[in-house]
Amino acid sequence: MNAIKATIKGFWNLLVGLQTTAKHLPRRAVTLQYPDERWTMPERSRGVVVLLSDPETGELNCNACLVCVKQCPVNAIYVDQAKDPETDKRYPAEFRIDNTICCFCGICEEVCNFDAIKLTGKYEFAVFNKEELIYDKARLQEIGRDVKYEPKKKKKTEKPAPKSGSPAETEPGTEISNRHNSEEAQS
Ligand code: SF4
Ligand code: SF4
Repeated sequence: MNAIKATIKGFWNLLVGLQTTAKHLPRRAVTLQYPDERWTMPERSRGVVVLLSDPETGELNCNACLVCVKQCPVNAIYVDQAKDPETDKRYPAEFRIDNTICCFCGICEEVCNFDAIKLTGKYEFAVFNKEELIYDKARLQEIGRDVKYEPKKKKKTEKPAPKSGSPAETEPGTEISNRHNSEEAQS
């Protein structure tokens, strides 16, 4: 008796399976033959974070203001701030992003005022050794070279005429940078 029940149940399951197959036969396949085929990722995808460079000079746009460092919720960004003695301009001597803890929230891109950092549609970064997921400045710049971006519109503000004897104009980010350094000094 059990054998008959099992046979009927098996036959019924076969019919259910064939019905599902028949339903999907006329439909267009949604799978891709990866890696020969890939999805085109949407413009605002939050994939691998890269550093952007000036398309004309090839120089990094980052001026090491440290805003992204302060705002990253998981402390995934490390920037070694340096200053060019000739031009007196700040630049990142080192810039690292730890992709093992980055949560791809996009805050670093949002807070950066210099079009220097961006989340991309790139998503293939699996490795066998997790140490390789810590990207240094050279790597971040390299994978960001082909990333197109729209420069953020800077707000036009009327600057008051400097009073005589007032200190020189502060560069954007200097205040934050100093706060960061003073906090570091206290800790
Ligand atoms: S906020 Fe932008 S300019 Fe400032 S350190 Fe980060 S990436 Fe560089
Ligand atoms: S995407 Fe978010 S978590 Fe990742 S580096 Fe930027 S701010 Fe940090």
